[in-house]
Amino acid sequence: MSLKYESTRDNRVNVRPSEAVVKGLSDDGGLFVPREIDGLGLDIKEMCSLNFHETAKKVLSLFFTDFSEEQINDSVMKAYDSKFDDPEIVPVKKVGETYIMELFHGSTIAFKDIALSILPHLMKKAQSNCRMKEEIVILTATSGDTGKAALEGFKDVEGTQIIVFYPNDGVSKVQEMQMLTTDGANTHVVAVEGNFDDAQSAVKAIFNDQDLRAKLSAKGMKFSSANSINIGRLVPQISYYFSTYADMVKKDQIKLGDKINFVIPTGNFGNILAGYFAKTLGLPVGKLICAANENNVLYDFLNTGVYDINRDFKKTMSPSMDILISSNLERLLYFMSDKDNAYVAELMDQLKKNKKYEVTDEIKAKIKDQFWSSYCSESDTSQTVKKVYEEEGYLLDTHTAVAYKVYEDYVKATDDESKSVILSTASPFKFTGSVYKALFGQTETDELNLIAELSHQTGIEVPKQIEGLGDRKILHKRFCRPQTMPNEILNILDEK
Ligand SMILES: *Cc1c(COP(=O)(O)O)cnc(C)c1O
Repeated sequence: MSLKYESTRDNRVNVRPSEAVVKGLSDDGGLFVPREIDGLGLDIKEMCSLNFHETAKKVLSLFFTDFSEEQINDSVMKAYDSKFDDPEIVPVKKVGETYIMELFHGSTIAFKDIALSILPHLMKKAQSNCRMKEEIVILTATSGDTGKAALEGFKDVEGTQIIVFYPNDGVSKVQEMQMLTTDGANTHVVAVEGNFDDAQSAVKAIFNDQDLRAKLSAKGMKFSSANSINIGRLVPQISYYFSTYADMVKKDQIKLGDKINFVIPTGNFGNILAGYFAKTLGLPVGKLICAANENNVLYDFLNTGVYDINRDFKKTMSPSMDILISSNLERLLYFMSDKDNAYVAELMDQLKKNKKYEVTDEIKAKIKDQFWSSYCSESDTSQTVKKVYEEEGYLLDTHTAVAYKVYEDYVKATDDESKSVILSTASPFKFTGSVYKALFGQTETDELNLIAELSHQTGIEVPKQIEGLGDRKILHKRFCRPQTMPNEILNILDEK
């Protein structure tokens, strides 16, 4: 069967999987969604007998129906190799009464590596499936982790340029240094004045800038996206929900068919939406628990049905979740409204005009059925890092700590006895400054110097991926305002 993708905002848009991956975003500003996802399914018993690579192949073949088996195999094997420092790729650890899914074993020690290690391979193959001749220019807005993961993934991939925009002052020192020291002939990094929403909105506007697109066309180039608005980012993330379930069955932690909950530290709603897809495909999932930090717009929405971004943007110690405009929620609205594209388009229009929308009672009820949400304050985040380290001997990063606290809220608020798995989205060393302060209190030492200190104090080895980070040479020095991003892009492309 061949799957078609339409735009969340227009069902007349009808493209093959490869085209959806190459384009990244639909021309009408909507996101690509698989039309017949309800008809798709995976046999859970069979899935439980597979390893991570086999799981990924199954999942990808289901969504990327115009890729050959060889193209899928090749992408999976090249993506999930020794770049990962654990042969299981996504190991699961038991911590106290709960389970932690470790998604941070890739080259940039954050969960974005799972999708961004494979996206470049998928994109090159999609390009050839579409007989596309243009060079691909990947535009990426990052709240910190996508940027480095995309740079690593696309570095020196022939026929591509990768441009990353990050909020100046909005990312951790480790994240910034990781990005600024990236080598490769086709990598470009730009600091943008403003926060992540400013950068992401500007990137989305650039995708729909006809004038700029024409200029690129004249150079034989075309934009695409490595953000989770690209369906090629989202689909690979479904794999670890299945592989984790299989792992727990194999280890006798659950019986085949038992429902489990997943707790997901959420920003752009990509990771949790992949969990929703897994559930739709037949994975026995109870609740998808959305953990927010003090930028709790999603917590409010999932509980009240009102999405309202008329509020202050807060900089927190879990910066990868500092987002008010959560892109992938648009895909959830599409499914929850029974694929009512006109309705989704209207909500997105209201969001743009009034910074606010409210969904119908029917949709509110459907959302409550699938999701549960709470949020975690800054002080609770540090206290959770400290408590779990002292009581369980397990060191959480700040994003995972947000999820851990929300898991505790869930246990207190409900009588659900199913097991819960917390998705750990980053290594604690990626946010060394905040983690160190949570454990040992205030310090004047620079974050980069604290890496060795944190390792020394806890006895946990520094991940080899960031060893010697402070000594690496800074290779990127660009800076601009959101309004001048189009010019910056043209300058970059002219210079090379
Ligand atoms: C990106 C990121 C998140 C948020 O994931 P979404 O898919 O955007 O919801 C959470 N934690 C970390 C460490 C991240 O890098």
